[in-house]
Amino acid sequence: MTSGRTFASLALALALAACSGNPTPEEVAAAQAVITPTSAGVTTETASLDEQQPPAGEATPADQPPPEAAGEPAAEPAPASSHVDLKYLIGDIDPATDPKFTRIPQKYIGGSRVWGHKDAVDAFVRMAEDAAQNGYQLKIVSSFRSFSDQKRIWEDKWTGKTLVGGRKLNSALPDPKARALKILEYSSMPGTSRHHWGTDFDINALDNGYFTNTKDGRKLYDWLVGHAANYGFCQVYDTKKGEGARKTGYEEEKWHWSYRPVADWYLRQYPIDVGYERLTGFQGSEAAQSIDVITNYVQGISAECRQ
Ligand SMILES: [Zn+2]
Repeated sequence: MTSGRTFASLALALALAACSGNPTPEEVAAAQAVITPTSAGVTTETASLDEQQPPAGEATPADQPPPEAAGEPAAEPAPASSHVDLKYLIGDIDPATDPKFTRIPQKYIGGSRVWGHKDAVDAFVRMAEDAAQNGYQLKIVSSFRSFSDQKRIWEDKWTGKTLVGGRKLNSALPDPKARALKILEYSSMPGTSRHHWGTDFDINALDNGYFTNTKDGRKLYDWLVGHAANYGFCQVYDTKKGEGARKTGYEEEKWHWSYRPVADWYLRQYPIDVGYERLTGFQGSEAAQSIDVITNYVQGISAECRQ
């Protein structure tokens, strides 16, 4: 235990740049959470955009048939609209008041981010409850982040307020494209993060070292690889090393898992509705198109999450 904890905090110090930018003290504490293995299951299906009905949590109120008046034959449900409102794709919402979002149950909160898409939180709770029956303690150390949350993370690195690899990027990398590419190793440009969708969770630790170099971390990772798909989750950012490996996008993140039934939907909608004219309002946005962040990062994900 002691050796694992010391290793986790050391590895965590090294990975401070990961995924949610600058984790809060709670996230650091949560990342040192201890866990062990189990199993259960749900199935997911995917079809082309126009055929597919939106996932349950996505049906817009307009699709809800009005409650039947007493004795009246049930009204035909209106055809489901398959459109995801742009604000959900770029994180321009307030999760505390949005009907698609819910608060993560307290016992699974492992950081300062507490909101998630309803369907994704439900599926995570099912997975975590079964894991708990076998002694694993799953915690969400990061979840939904709004556009403005991500803007703060991004601009703190852009301006040198947050060091990246021990450097102040505003002086170390004056070229906007080079600076953006450096930040993009682990942090998304505002408007392009899957954490905006509420479907993606960082589980237990924010560094790969914990999942590869500690016994508990390895057991948890093996369990997630073997079981997360049963709950609809997949690892979005897998290794970029080796034959046939992913060539574009963020570096590998063993902690970042995504709920496909909703995220697939959003990913298909994203390039249709989000053009580079939408990715503005933050420092460094001018580099978005030259880097082609939509193709290389939003769509630069693991085969497991794309098939
Ligand atoms: Zn993440």
